[in-house]
Formats: sequence, C-alpha cells, structure tokens
Amino acid sequence: MSEDIPFNRVLNLVPGVVDHVLPGVRRVLADNPGPFTFKGTVSYIIGRGRVAIIDPGPADAHHIAALLNAVRGETVTHIVVTHTHRDHSPSAAPIRAATGAPTYGEGPHRLSRPLFIGEAKRLDAGGDTDFVPDRRIADGDVIAGDGWALEAIATPGHTANHMAFALKGTDVLFSGDHVMGWSTSIVAPPDGSMSDYMASLDRVAARPETVYLAGHGDVIRDAPGFVARYIAHRRGREASILHRLGKGEADIASLVRAIYIGLDPRLAGAAALSTLAHLEDLTARKLVTTDGAPSISGRYRLPP
Ligand SMILES: [Zn+2]
Repeated sequence: MSEDIPFNRVLNLVPGVVDHVLPGVRRVLADNPGPFTFKGTVSYIIGRGRVAIIDPGPADAHHIAALLNAVRGETVTHIVVTHTHRDHSPSAAPIRAATGAPTYGEGPHRLSRPLFIGEAKRLDAGGDTDFVPDRRIADGDVIAGDGWALEAIATPGHTANHMAFALKGTDVLFSGDHVMGWSTSIVAPPDGSMSDYMASLDRVAARPETVYLAGHGDVIRDAPGFVARYIAHRRGREASILHRLGKGEADIASLVRAIYIGLDPRLAGAAALSTLAHLEDLTARKLVTTDGAPSISGRYRLPP
C-alpha cells in the first residue's frame, strides 16, 4: 500500500502474554490477526496496583482471561475505550462484570453521517453497537487514577466517537486506531469521515507527545514525524484522485484500479470506501462535483 510512510510490520508479542512496554504501561496482544487488525488488538494496562485497562478488545474468552490474569492481585478502577469497533470494546462488558470497574468512552457507536436512501451499511458490520459507557467523556476531560491520569482528545474520523488519550506527565499518547504504526487507518463512510479524520490528524500533530501506543502494531517513536507522513500520504491520495478525475476517470472502481496498485484483494472494499471518504471530503470542499450526495456508485468530475 503506502510505502511513503515508514511502516513497522514487526510486532514480537505472543497473544495473551503480558509485555512491559513502557514504565507504568503493560500490553497484551489479542489473538485476532487479520487484514484490518495486523497481529491483533493490543490492550493496555496503565499503572500498578490500581489500574486502568485501555481497549479491552474483542469478545474472546482467552483474551479476557489473559487480561484478568495480568491484573491478578490488583484492582481495575477504569475500563477505557478508544472507540466502538468489535475488535476494541466488546470485552469491556465481561471485564466490567468481573472487576466492577466502570467503563469510559465518548459514547455509543454512531455513524459519522446519516445513511442515504438505499445505502447499505458496509464495513459498519465492524461496529460494536452494544457498548454504552458508564461514564461519557468529552474532549479535554481528565480520567484520574492512582498514580496516573489520562487526558481525552476527541479524534473523530476513523469512527465518530474515537478518542485518543494522553498519559499525563509523560510523552505517551494512546492513539487507538487513529494513528497506527503498521498501516494507515481505515476511514470508511458512513462509519468514518475523512473531513473529521484529517482535522483529527492536525489535532494530534499539534500536540507534544512523541511516543504513540496504538490499537494495533508496535510502539510509534518519533510520532510527530510519523503523523506528518500520514498527513502527507492522505494529501497525496487526494491529489491522485483529483489527477485521475482530470484524466476522465469518473467512478470509484476506476479510481481504485488506477490509484491502489498491487492492492491486497481482501482490502478492495476498504479501498473503495476510503476513496468514497476522500470524495465526500473533496465534494464538501467544492473541489469535486457529483450528482446528489456522494455515493459509492456515483459519478464524479472536477468542477467546471
Ligand atoms: Zn477501529
């Protein structure tokens, strides 16, 4: 895919085995590898003794047992969710039941925009519509625990309810699926929004943290440089779309064929939705026109 970004496709973690990734932060890999999840979801444990779990992960009995085993003899005081995809939030409920800890998140799953008439829900099958946080958090809220505190940073785009969390007093940001070291993030309408996503990239780019711990993949060091490449990559994709529209390509299938050379066929649907996400954003900025609302089957052109 996008070799202009210095991706790291190594992650030497064994599912279920606790890894002390940074001072005061442990991580546990879930065994849910795949084209969208890399080696699997990475759950984080913050603090020692009285701890938070960030992104408890998919509804997988082995992963739930591994997390509970990792905090044996400790007290879980907070369960924090970056966003409501099925690989991140479903095990919040069983871990809440086992520990009594309240759950924290921006809100239940919701779409970034209303569905158009006749528009099917596509990748939104990945949404966890069961999760309802006990405590709703807003941008700037601080979740304070015993010896640690997390500042919530609203980062919509991958989903409407995505939150990143800065570990206060450190150089560390939990970036969820907003920024990941192994791949670009999926931005798929109507679940996600490219306009929101780009604004959220600018938000984290303006922040001081230099080390990111993502929902998938290894630690991102030099995060500001990485985020700058992420933004440049999206701007480059946008330029490619405008270029191909200028050449006469007018539908998403043709654009994807022209732009995504050597694409993993399993990611074809995601590439089409990502292209739609860009076209929605470009249409909103009046750089592209289409008839009616931008849709997956629409015809697109440069404005006259
Ligand atoms: Zn996600």
